Amino acid sequence: MKVLIVGSGGREHAIGWKIKQDNPSVELFFSIGNAGTAEIGENIGISDLEELKDFAKNNKIDLTIVGPEMELVDGIVDIFEAEGLKIFGPNQEAAELEGSKVFAKDFMEKHGVKTAFAKSFRHFVDARDYLNSIEEFPVVIKASGLAAGKGVVIVQNNDEAQEVIRDMMNDKTFGDAGTQVVIEQFLEGFECSILSIYNGKEIVPFISAKDHKKIGEGETGLNTGGMGVVAPNPLFTDAHFEAFEKDILEPTQKGLAAEGLDFAGVIFFGLMVNESGVYLLEYNIRFGDPETEAVLPLMNSDLLEIIEKAVNGESFEVSWKNQHTCCVVLASGGYPLNYDKGFEIKGLDRVDVPLFIAGAQKTEDAIVTSGGRVLNVVGIGDSLEQARKSAYDNIAKINFDYAYFREDIGKV
Ligand code: ATP
Repeated sequence: MKVLIVGSGGREHAIGWKIKQDNPSVELFFSIGNAGTAEIGENIGISDLEELKDFAKNNKIDLTIVGPEMELVDGIVDIFEAEGLKIFGPNQEAAELEGSKVFAKDFMEKHGVKTAFAKSFRHFVDARDYLNSIEEFPVVIKASGLAAGKGVVIVQNNDEAQEVIRDMMNDKTFGDAGTQVVIEQFLEGFECSILSIYNGKEIVPFISAKDHKKIGEGETGLNTGGMGVVAPNPLFTDAHFEAFEKDILEPTQKGLAAEGLDFAGVIFFGLMVNESGVYLLEYNIRFGDPETEAVLPLMNSDLLEIIEKAVNGESFEVSWKNQHTCCVVLASGGYPLNYDKGFEIKGLDRVDVPLFIAGAQKTEDAIVTSGGRVLNVVGIGDSLEQARKSAYDNIAKINFDYAYFREDIGKV
């Protein structure tokens, strides 16, 4: 069997690794891939969607799995399906659940998915007048379109808020992504991520995970693509899970059916949890990065079999190891702002836990850094503490110039 995985980060390496673990004879192809994916498959160096479709056709690819949101929002699934090619991911219409926060928020409200109170605006003057009428701050202002995780700003007062909507809506800091904005009630609580797979009828949730988004220890400093994840989320109880199923998963499933949003793919729920319950902050419609790197090593089931069943609209179950993971990201010093690339990474062969490469490429005789987030090292253990120890013991074996990582991933 031949599987094409679209993307080039730690998430795609982890998906490929999991497929290979359960199905050693599967042939993997990655677009674009990195030094890690090159070890388990072939990097094909194509990113254009039409060219990818031609590659899949000409090389008789049996199944394509899409990592990043951009390709999904740009309609890769529609392009492949029009040619009768099997692909795992939402079509362009359903990808709006991530691609447009206005669309997602309307969907949540219409179908009774528990979420923060919000209003959407397409005209600057309406957003301005609404903000002038608000008495309680902070509030959260979100550019509706994709903004690489940077389009969400928490503002403490009306002056700050006015500046943000001027930047987004008039000055177009985020391009077209900020043409419409969502202004949302600020929720206190802790965050939790839940990945799931949808087969067009039923959403099957994975175990929970806890992301660490900020660059600095103690959740300080700038936002990043993610500096580490633990799974399961130690704060998320069985009672929270039941509330999630009742208030979020079930209404989402009914809403997708009512709207005719029929696809096989991932639904990622970004949650905020407090004494009033579990709230949905956002849908993503693809595997989270780095959540995937922490969650897949705990999966007993065969991921490829699950994905094939989902694509065929069949039911499936997912079983999990009764263990914990701690995924720590090694980044290039300076990330998420400016950083240098091209430093040789040493010690990778001494690591004895799953290691997923995010931003590193192979040269003739070395593996060198090529991105802000460079590696994901995933410790596994019977307790979170053991998983943390295993991650940090293995990180100590690796080095490259200006490597940076947080030492507090998984400290509750
Ligand atoms: P991501 O990088 O997770 O894809 P995104 O740009 O799609 O982010 P959201 O997940 O909606 O946007 O928001 C990003 C972050 O902002 C959340 O993880 C959370 O920390 C914070 N946030 C969003 N909405 C709220 C809210 N209503 N109350 C408090 N914090 C919020």
